[in-house]
Amino acid sequence: MKNPKASLTAEFEDAYGSQSSAVVNETPAKAKTAKAKGKKKRSGDSFWTRMLIFICGALVGLGVFATVMYFTQGKKADTKKETKRNSSSYRTSSNNRSSSGSRGDFYRDKDDEDDDDDNDSLLGRDRYNEKDLDDDFDEYIDDDYDPDSDSDFYDPGYTLPKNISGEDLSGYTIILDPGHGGRDTGCVFPFDYPEYNECDFNLRIAKRVEQELTSRGATVHMLRTDDSWVSLYNRLAQTHLICLDIAQEQGILPFSEDRADELRESLWDCIYINEDTVASGGMGIMVGSGVGEDLNDLFEMEYKLEKVIYLSIHLNSSESQTLHGNQIFYVTDESVIESENRQMYENSEFQRSDFPIREEYYGRHNDDNYLLGCCLYDNIVGNIPAFETNGTPVKADNYAVLREHGLTGALVEVAYLSDDNDRTMLQRSDIIDQVAYSIADGVKMYFIQKDI
Ligand SMILES: [Zn+2]
Repeated sequence: MKNPKASLTAEFEDAYGSQSSAVVNETPAKAKTAKAKGKKKRSGDSFWTRMLIFICGALVGLGVFATVMYFTQGKKADTKKETKRNSSSYRTSSNNRSSSGSRGDFYRDKDDEDDDDDNDSLLGRDRYNEKDLDDDFDEYIDDDYDPDSDSDFYDPGYTLPKNISGEDLSGYTIILDPGHGGRDTGCVFPFDYPEYNECDFNLRIAKRVEQELTSRGATVHMLRTDDSWVSLYNRLAQTHLICLDIAQEQGILPFSEDRADELRESLWDCIYINEDTVASGGMGIMVGSGVGEDLNDLFEMEYKLEKVIYLSIHLNSSESQTLHGNQIFYVTDESVIESENRQMYENSEFQRSDFPIREEYYGRHNDDNYLLGCCLYDNIVGNIPAFETNGTPVKADNYAVLREHGLTGALVEVAYLSDDNDRTMLQRSDIIDQVAYSIADGVKMYFIQKDI
């Protein structure tokens, strides 16, 4: 187990030590000169030499310290910036590697918005500080895991079928989630004096996608149909309810109908409460890390619904305005676990006494999620080359709306609202038509690839 603080100190000391040795090595030459000039002079030189060595050593030490601090702070600043940048994107991720918080995007939103002072006191900051977190954290973190390593390099690893164009989608169900809405605008542009809100674009695009999918024979469920606030856990509760109905209709409920009704009742509470906080109770059976018994039952049921997928529609934003293009996020067991473990260390919400911390959960359809992401990206960028991203095309992360159900799913960041060209294109109805067409083709490609 590696203690990051200890290793930083060691690095610093090592650098300081090496530099000091280099200065000390000059001493014999200087001593030789001094010897020729007499004893008194020699002792004087020796004093000044030692002073010189000391001053040089101190300067070098300060230089090394300043360098270490510069890089440390720089990294923190980058992390903050990245977190802020992602604040609109529903992400619940980890470190900074991705930022957002785990059991809900709302965790990260709270961090970003800094508007939840109440919670800080509610959540047991004291307890948080008392713990020896470095030690605890080490137990959770897998040093070898790097969520970026698998996904930064885009290689679907599949030979994706070509010529998917306008094909039939009868028999398939798509749950469509237009991100944000109501009091949550999502990302905005310009940053200081917002003229464009992500939530409006998301709804417009999702409605067009709904139209395209429906016209091809698919069944579509929209989780938000107007500009109203719909909490994340409300959306997730809706998703579980839709799946319960489909499973019951198909006679494949993995539990009794009484059990299904019991779960429905609990899910309806999330819809009525319509808030993304632990205190409100709006997270229902989805609160906590890992997966509890109720959620596990729903996951098992949803894994069997192969012809149902979940798509969340969003726009991206880059504070530095350097990124552009399309990006698809998905979840894996690893991306969720890594993020949740990190949150246990970093996020005071996880320190609440009423926050259930369960066993790590394994069982998601990791590969299917990735395949769906690749199919969507390939089709969107294939039809709209200008949306090819200079960022990571298909990336594993931790989003509540993908994490809290067992359906294969993806979060589509259609393009960057912060990028001038992307934004201009997003305002063109022919481009939105292309986006809708491409998403429908991507969905079809996924089902063809899976042969279902
Ligand atoms: Zn968003």
